[in-house]
Order: sequence, then C-alpha cells, then structure tokens
Amino acid sequence: MTVLEGTVLAGRSFDPITGRVVVEDGRIAAVEEGETDSTDIILPAFVNAHTHLGDSVAKEAAVGLGLEAAVAPPDSRKHRRLAAASHDELVTAMRRTLQFVRRTGTVTCLDFRESGVEGARALREAAAPLEVDPFIFGSDDPAVLEVADGFGASGANDDDFTEQRAAARTADVPFAIHAGEPDASDIDPALAYDPELLVHMVHAEADHLERVRDRSIPVAVCPRANTVLDVGTPPIRELLDHTTVALGTDNVMLNPPSMLQEMAYTAKHHDVTEREVLRMATTAGAEVAGLDCGVVEAGRPAALTVVDGDSDNLVGTADPIRAVVRRATALDVTNVLV
Ligand SMILES: [Zn+2]
Repeated sequence: MTVLEGTVLAGRSFDPITGRVVVEDGRIAAVEEGETDSTDIILPAFVNAHTHLGDSVAKEAAVGLGLEAAVAPPDSRKHRRLAAASHDELVTAMRRTLQFVRRTGTVTCLDFRESGVEGARALREAAAPLEVDPFIFGSDDPAVLEVADGFGASGANDDDFTEQRAAARTADVPFAIHAGEPDASDIDPALAYDPELLVHMVHAEADHLERVRDRSIPVAVCPRANTVLDVGTPPIRELLDHTTVALGTDNVMLNPPSMLQEMAYTAKHHDVTEREVLRMATTAGAEVAGLDCGVVEAGRPAALTVVDGDSDNLVGTADPIRAVVRRATALDVTNVLV
C-alpha cells in the first residue's frame, strides 16, 4: 500500500481537497479528506494526446521550415532523417524521449508512429523496459494493427485510407487522422472516414464544428507545434464548446514533449480556464485511448503525478490548479506513480 498526502486535485472537476490518496495493487483504493503537513499537490498523471516520438532522431532539424518542408511525407526533412537513422539509433532516441515524458509527469502518449509494422515494433521495443506505455497509432499497412493500438492517418489529402479505416473497424480499434492543419481542405474528406479522433482542426469552420459535435468526435490540439510551423491558432474555445478536446505536444523535432509546457502555453494564449486545460491534459486523452486513468477517484488505476507545492518555483502560489497549469516545470515533479 502506498499513501500520498497533500492537496489532491480530486474527481472530474479537480476540486482541491486536503488529505490523502491510498493506492493498493496499482489502483486508487481511497481518496480521503484529513489534516496533513504535506505541501505536495497530487493530480492525475498526464496523457499526451498527440506525439511523433520518431522525430526524436531529428531534433531542431526543421528550424525555420514550414509544414510541408518540415514534416510532410515522403520527402520532408523529418522523413529523410527517419530514413537515415539505423534501427538502434531510432529505438534509443525514442526511449530517451519516453524517459523524459515520464519524468515530466506523463503516463502515456498517443503516438502517430511512422514506418508501418517495423515502426510500431521499434516503438514497442523502445518502451519495453520503461514504466510508460505509449498508445501506438500505426501507419501504412493495415497489418500494422497486429502490433499497434489503432491506425493513424497522415491526412486525407495525402492518400486513400479506405482499407485502413475498414481494418481498424474490424479490429475494433480507433482510426485517427490529421485534419485542418495548414488549411480546411482536408477536413471534409477526413470526416468522411468517420474517425475516432481528429488531430489539429486549426482551420475548423462552423459546419465542421457542428458535425464534430453531432458525432461526438474528440479532437487533439497541439498549440505550440501550430505556432512553430506557423499554420495558425487552433480555435480551442470553440472546439471545447462542441466536443472533447485533448492536448498533445506533436512532433518531438519541434518541441519537447512536456505537458507542463504545453499546458502553460495553452492557458496563456487561449480563452480557456485552468481546469479545462488540466482536463485536456489528463481525462480527455485517457478517454480517447480508452484508458481509465486521468481522474483521481477510488477504483481508478493509480496513474498519479506529484508536484512539490513548496518548491522554489511554486512556494506561495495560492491556487494549486493554477500553480500546476500555468507555472509548474519538470523540476517541481517529485513522483510519477504508474
Ligand atoms: Zn501529428
């Protein structure tokens, strides 16, 4: 049994309570109010809703490049770096990134893994010795679903994914697709696949928002990556008013996959509350991946992040939710329980 004491951001509303979280056999056995001297803040571990861990071999390789030259298949800087990396280089680079992911308070990331079956296998190999288990959206061959947890399509303007969509349905796993990143032209064809997850939707228009709401399709947004690639600003307020919105850090080549950095950026650049941002970074991504974590309540898996509320950085902050969302850094994370 493990007992964590402090300020607990409990339940779906993250209402701070003073007390403790009791963990038994990997699950939360109880969340109890009570007196404690602990200044720790206990919250759900983050779920990063969109990454490309393979880009760990191409850090900063796309500085100054636009979307097409940086990341578009098959001839972008990213894809050339991926092709040039050996299997061992790729696995090692992704493993190091996953270690960083874990140390910054994240229990899993929903990763779009390039390179088909081989690519998905390389990510499984990278994660095998670690306590962070990526949810893999595989690519290319429908047979990738024997290794991956779902299918991730690069975009409806890139290729025809009818076969992959059907294979995902047969396997009862999610089909996710990039849409509306540089412009709106691939949103209608992406919606035609009836996806379980849309990624980006920077250029979503009113009729797209209505269709997303009517079909309850969740959206993963990646505001820092959109800024770096200069594709625009995702309409996060409007998306939240229509559907479930989850937060992701996107390409490792562009930004470090720290949900703390992504949350702070989102809270400071968008018309959203801190609680909404925390939900985007935890509960929303967990639901997309069909995981039961992302909420601190009895019966849930114990995927928890502990932040030191008395760190040199956080001491004196009056509101624990604002402290975590707007100010906390990796240096303030003292424990990640999975
Ligand atoms: Zn992406």
